[in-house]
Amino acid sequence: MGDRSNPSVLIAGSANADFVVRAGRIPAAGETVLGGDLAIFPGGKGANQAVAAARAGGAPTRMLVALGDDDMARMVADSLTDAGVELDIRRSPRSTGAALITVSDTAENAITVSPGANADLGPGDLNDLGGIAWLVMQLETPLDTVSAFAGVARDRGVKVMLNAAPARALSKTLLAAVDVLVVNEDELAVLVGAEGSIADRLARTGVATTVVTLGGRGACARVGEDYILQPAFVVMPVDTTAAGDTFCGVLAAGFADGLALAEALVRAAAAAALVTTRPGAQSSIPPRADVDAFIATARQHDRDDLAAYCGLGPAAS
Ligand code: ADP
Repeated sequence: MGDRSNPSVLIAGSANADFVVRAGRIPAAGETVLGGDLAIFPGGKGANQAVAAARAGGAPTRMLVALGDDDMARMVADSLTDAGVELDIRRSPRSTGAALITVSDTAENAITVSPGANADLGPGDLNDLGGIAWLVMQLETPLDTVSAFAGVARDRGVKVMLNAAPARALSKTLLAAVDVLVVNEDELAVLVGAEGSIADRLARTGVATTVVTLGGRGACARVGEDYILQPAFVVMPVDTTAAGDTFCGVLAAGFADGLALAEALVRAAAAAALVTTRPGAQSSIPPRADVDAFIATARQHDRDDLAAYCGLGPAAS
């Protein structure tokens, strides 16, 4: 197990306040529906990943984040600090990022995101990489900032993990500065198209290590010419919010803790599976001891099924 002497993980990315209302249905344009009580949660891909990395316990975790000067900023900062994340805050005159989320009784959702302060994280804001082994980013902050940070990290010998979410096309220059790319199936299709098997698509990203998460099927990684399959753990999911973010944060913490990719994938998949069994986002991210206990007893889905789905197994054409 890692300790304070381990190299750190730095998450540079977004934090939002999520405003969630349950309603009978999503309102149509021009319509008003009455919903239930408002729930306000800390969220945002970057902040979720930072909480997951810190709770994973393998490495000290820092976060570089732009926040406004408002109650939402205090809520998201407190959640990060409580999880053990050391904060490096850029203050913005804008409101802290916010997501306005309506969830219907049929589990549909409609989400409007106001990036707010997240849009003010600038290319020059990464000044301190001392003690950092891994820089982790997502795409909820400006793309020129993500590209600039990746270039700085590469120049200083810091490894870069990019979770290319939300989905968008990326330049070859940015991808060339990335050591580990993590995407879901839709994000992979936006990057490299949907032609060929999952294995074929992974081979087209141009990044040395690419991991695709496949929801309840699990994940598949391509490292150089090799593939590693990580079936999902068997659980009864109730809310998959933050599963992908937890996967990324725990994976990065595993790398900083010195785990090999296959070992880090087991921990990431186990933590992500546990998140789906609990309602909520950051509050549902499990601590290290829960993940250890779960791995010791839980079953994984069939590896051959995953192999076939990815175009790597005997059932693949
Ligand atoms: P995203 O939410 O970013 O689209 P995924 O849905 O692919 O991400 O989920 C990320 C990871 O979470 C998966 O690779 C898997 O390990 C885990 N996971 C997601 N859904 C389930 C599930 N129903 N059962 C077990 N694990 C799951």
